[in-house]
Amino acid sequence: MRAVYFDAFQTLPAVETLTDPSPSPTGIVVKVEATGLCRSDWHGWMGHDPDIKLPHVPGHELAGTVAAVGRDVKTWRVGDRVTVPFVSGCGHCPECASGHQHICDNQVQPGFTMWGSFAEYVALEYADLNVVRLPDSMAFDTAAALGCRFVTSFSAVIDKGRCAPGEWVAVHGCGGVGLSAIMIAAAMGAQVVAVDLTEEKLALAKALGAAVTINASGGTKVPQAIRDVTGGGAHLSIDALGHAVTAMNSVRSLRKRGRHVQVGLMLAEHARAAMPMDRVIAYELEIKGSHGMQAHRYPEMLRMIGAGMLKPEKLVAKTIGLDAAPAALAAMDKFEGTGITIIRP
Ligand SMILES: [Zn+2]
Ligand SMILES: [Zn+2]
Repeated sequence: MRAVYFDAFQTLPAVETLTDPSPSPTGIVVKVEATGLCRSDWHGWMGHDPDIKLPHVPGHELAGTVAAVGRDVKTWRVGDRVTVPFVSGCGHCPECASGHQHICDNQVQPGFTMWGSFAEYVALEYADLNVVRLPDSMAFDTAAALGCRFVTSFSAVIDKGRCAPGEWVAVHGCGGVGLSAIMIAAAMGAQVVAVDLTEEKLALAKALGAAVTINASGGTKVPQAIRDVTGGGAHLSIDALGHAVTAMNSVRSLRKRGRHVQVGLMLAEHARAAMPMDRVIAYELEIKGSHGMQAHRYPEMLRMIGAGMLKPEKLVAKTIGLDAAPAALAAMDKFEGTGITIIRP
């Protein structure tokens, strides 16, 4: 198979011809039809993720058709149209037993703990537990756009954030995660305040359902601006970027008993970001992390997409081939452009 491959961090990957994967007894192999390019891939390539052992093939936001099935797999047949959460559970740890496969104690992550989907074929593990069937009506590009970003935002807004109609929801950062969160919160009937540094992304945020936009550049005091526009603060606030400043702004923009959900990854120098814990106590705030979503929560999201309430395809900015993927991966730190890039291997 052809795949994006690197044997050193921070040096431009190459597209190489590698041996096709074969399925483990409980796994499947998927022919990748579309796969999202994500900042997590960039972090991995930079060497920020200790799970990655070199050499490596990145990619974790995939959709495709089943190409081979392990001998113990019961659910899947060759040709089935599928996607998979970016964290697959083992099925036998306490987290999996309680339905939280996305924080499994023995999690496998294509593109991190194993080779990923910037390739013609990718192996998936524990397929009966983790793989999700796609509706026939859903294009592969759209399914790949669910990626980690849309799915994690769905879980952050609805499951962790308990978004309710009429509430004010602040979203800090209007990249793929943030735009997803805006669309989902607006679909839930919330009033969304979108925050970013660029007018281009704020315009897209507005088009996707934001009621108010705040440009955080030029010394804007974001928490105060949000408290002003919401009449006292957001009920729910999401740091969709993953930065010490946006995390702080998010918590400080909440009204009393508000909920902060951290979705943007906090890595490298942001891993130990300061938090105003005096405010957390005085306001009885909640701080939650969100790390993806279980396969068994996908059907509700897919129903909302099928009903036209959510349109993840609107987040797709462009599609590229495998040969353009290495340069696009290396450029992911620049926050250029809006929306999601889909690779078609
Ligand atoms: Zn598990
Ligand atoms: Zn991702």
